[in-house]
Order: sequence, then structure tokens, then C-alpha cells
Amino acid sequence: MAEVKLVDVTKIYEGKNKAVDKISLEVKDKEFVVLVGPSGCGKSTTLRMIAGLEEISEGELFIDGKRMNDTPPAQRDIAMVFQNYALYPHMTVFENMAFGLKLRKFSKSEIKERVKHAADILGIENLLDRKPKQLSGGQRQRVALGRAIVRKPKVFLFDEPLSNLDAKLRVQMRTEISKLHHQLGATMVYVTHDQTEAMTMGDRIVVMKDGYVQQIDTPMNLYNNPSNKFVAGFIGSPSMNFIEGNIIDNDGKEFRSMKGGLKIKLNGDWGTKLKTYSVDRLYVGIRPENFSLAELENSQRLTVIAELVEPMGSDANIYFNVDGISFVCKTNVTGLPKTGEIINIYLRPDLLHFFDKEKENAL
Ligand code: ADP
Repeated sequence: MAEVKLVDVTKIYEGKNKAVDKISLEVKDKEFVVLVGPSGCGKSTTLRMIAGLEEISEGELFIDGKRMNDTPPAQRDIAMVFQNYALYPHMTVFENMAFGLKLRKFSKSEIKERVKHAADILGIENLLDRKPKQLSGGQRQRVALGRAIVRKPKVFLFDEPLSNLDAKLRVQMRTEISKLHHQLGATMVYVTHDQTEAMTMGDRIVVMKDGYVQQIDTPMNLYNNPSNKFVAGFIGSPSMNFIEGNIIDNDGKEFRSMKGGLKIKLNGDWGTKLKTYSVDRLYVGIRPENFSLAELENSQRLTVIAELVEPMGSDANIYFNVDGISFVCKTNVTGLPKTGEIINIYLRPDLLHFFDKEKENAL
């Protein structure tokens, strides 16, 4: 069992603003939780407070129900994997992996057994005699993982562990860490700025911005029910399209963009729901993949110029403009138009998102 609980945890660096403001989070036993957000939002600070590398200014941290605020890092029974691997250059792979166990006075046979087991899991048995400089980036990252695994810690913490790898290797290691998570049945907290990494790896995701938690949810809930405009725009690729405008009564509810050139008839549900809000300015959000080149039931047609068509093999992005607003549509590649062609694009009013103008919260 290994649960991590943060209660109103806050970090104030000396004389500075709050880097993390009252984060509360319960990571369950065996759960994989990802902290995600743009650079500077407080992800690493949060992770480092869990690790004990950074003091907690306010709030409380519990691991397995025990208060950890004043417990030194070495006694928290956690292992951290860093972006820069932090391997000792003069030691072999074996020695790097064995180092933490030696410090803790494990017997030689136990060390050998644990290192061998971890090396097996990671497929690096044949590298044990090499020095870090004789390894590729991916191999070094495996050694860093191995060093964490041999400790059999209660909790694994990862700080952007894949940032130094090239795109292909990053995808591969992402899968390996996910498999490792299942294999070890361990509790993991993982920091990244990459929303794809977060979406593919996390059981749950904590989206942060400016030191505040924006939403804690499963990947699918974040995608389907973002709690505000920031989360809606951060999750998904390409990002959600936003249109500022208002709702008017025109034989049923209708959304109109600011200049009035884009009108969307709202279906029954939204027409009724939005009546209960007194908003005269709001944002409508449309995911690029919720546009369609084919007419669908109850969809509305936009006739536009395909300003740019970007085929990417399995799918394509089409950029267009309505009423001075830029949009991107993500579609499959069958019947793809050419750049400059006039095309019909269909949108489904039942797949729209609405956010209020003031606080940008989802309606
Ligand atoms: P992230 O990991 O999301 O990029 P960080 O947790 O590293 O963000 O940083 C959060 C905020 O705290 C940033 O504004 C950063 O400049 C500030 N910060 C981070 N470390 C320190 C430090 N040691 N001293 C002062 N400010 C810091």
C-alpha cells in the first residue's frame, strides 16, 4: 500500500509569489497520476515537496497516512527519476544501480539479485559493465529507471523524465514506463508539460496553471468535460477553437460571433441550459476533430476557403477562417481538398463547449 495525500500544500519561495497555491490531491495506491501544465506552473515544485527536496511552506503531506512534512527525503521511501538521469559518470551501470542499496547496507547477494531483476525488466542486462558515457540517451534513462526500481520504493516520482529524448524514443519510453507501472503495481506521480504524455499515461491528470490546480480528472473526462477554457485549450491537439460571442433568441437559441458573421443554432438542450445563465458574452469551443467534411445528422454547414491543408498520413488539418476568426479542422484524409479550394465544413451543435467570458468557467 502506498498512498500520497496533499492537503492545501503551498510553496512560497523566499520573498516571491506563491509557486504552488493550496494543492490538495489524493494519489491512491497503485495509481499513476500526472501533473501537467505550462512551464512555471508549479509542477516540479509540487513533486519536489513530495520528495522532500523542497520544504512545504503551508499545508500537509501524508504518505500512507503518516505526516511527512518534517521527514528527510531518504526516510520517505520514495524514488525519483530526473530529466537529466543524474547518473554517476565514473561508475558502471551495475554500480549506478547498486549505489543506493549499498548505502542502505543491503547484502551483496541481495544487491546482485535486485539489480539483475531490474535489468531484466528493462532489457539492459548486457549493459551492466558499461559506463554512462558509453550509453545512448534511451539506455541512460533505463538505467535511471533501474536505479529507482531496485529500491522497491513506496512511491515513484518522475520529473519530465523523457524531455531529453528524441520524439520517437520518447513515445517508446512512454509505453515502457506505462507497462512498468502495471508490472510493478506501484504508485507513481509523473510531471510533464506534454499533454499527450499526460493523456496516454495518467490514470488521472492534475492540470495546473500559475500555481493553481485547474482540474483533477481522468483523461477522458478532461477531454469531454473540461472545467474551464484553459483546460479545454490545453488538452487536445490541435487545440480547441474558441469563438467569442453571445446568445440571442431567434426562433430558438442561437450563438452569434462578435461581428455577427458566424451563427450557430443551438440544439434543444443547450438552448434550455444557457437560458439559466445570465451571460451576454461567452466563448464557444469547438474541437478540431468535431468538424466534419461530410454532412452529418443535425449538423450545420459552413462554406469556407481551405486556407491551408496539412496532410499527415492518417489524418489532416485544414485551416480556415470565418468572420475574421481562424479555425482548424482535423479530418481523415479521404476526399481531402486542396489549399485554396472552397469547401463545406459541418459542425455538430451537440458537441460544442461553452465558457463564460468573465471567469472562463465551463457552462
Ligand atoms: P514547472 O515545473 O511547472 O515548470 P516550477 O515548479 O519549476 O514550475 O516553478 C514554479 C514557479 O516557482 C516559477 O515561477 C519558478 O520561477 C519559481 N521557482 C522555482 N524554483 C524556485 C526557486 N528555487 N526559487 C525561487 N523561485 C523558484
